[in-house]
Amino acid sequence: MRYAIISDIHSNLAAFQAVLHDINGTGSIDRIWCLGDIVGYGPDPKECIELLRQYEHVCVAGNHDWGALEKIDLNDFNPEAAAACRWTGQQLGPDEIDYLANLPLTLQEGDFTLAHGSPREPIWEYLLSTYSARISFDYFQTKYCLVGHSHVPAVFEQLADSEDCFLAELSPDAPLILGENRQIINPGGVGQPRDGDPRAAYAIYDSEHGVIQHHRVPYDIDATQQKMAEYGLPSRLITRLSYGW
Ligand code: ZN
Repeated sequence: MRYAIISDIHSNLAAFQAVLHDINGTGSIDRIWCLGDIVGYGPDPKECIELLRQYEHVCVAGNHDWGALEKIDLNDFNPEAAAACRWTGQQLGPDEIDYLANLPLTLQEGDFTLAHGSPREPIWEYLLSTYSARISFDYFQTKYCLVGHSHVPAVFEQLADSEDCFLAELSPDAPLILGENRQIINPGGVGQPRDGDPRAAYAIYDSEHGVIQHHRVPYDIDATQQKMAEYGLPSRLITRLSYGW
């Protein structure tokens, strides 16, 4: 089976379409695993939900998915993110609201647990250091865990017979071969990358070969930025897409 692992689409339809085009170019996939934050920040929340729902997929809830519904307090977001959450909520119809409201916090798919932020605190916790990742290994039962939220591709690998873990790179240059050690893997973000590379990021998991391949895809950043400007979304959110921060 082949699974596409995507996260943090963030209402960026141009990026999402480019990723889907790229996925289809790599051969057929059986299912999409989406790690949350379908909406927020970008200009096309409704369209991104509709497009994802055309595919066989599972998806967990992200902080922006709940933020758009005001299911969590918008004071917990920075002012620009909160403004985008409010605007996003106004674009959604009852069907999209219902879909986002019913996303689970975590899911198990075979050897993988899926969570947006972390398995310990799925909505808000960022896994950016080995310190926080180390604690997270106690909070899922499967061998592997997939997370998003930071928009930074990464692999945290737990050392065998140890509580310690180390940070490894997830890069398109080399496949990640799943071995004996437990791992927490972040595929990076589709719609708002933050690792200094503005291209959309995603990964493909091939269960037969036990391999995860990372991919980066250029997309029409300008098209997304123009729509965001037209809809009056915060300028910092528009600018950052050019640089991937
Ligand atoms: Zn996000």
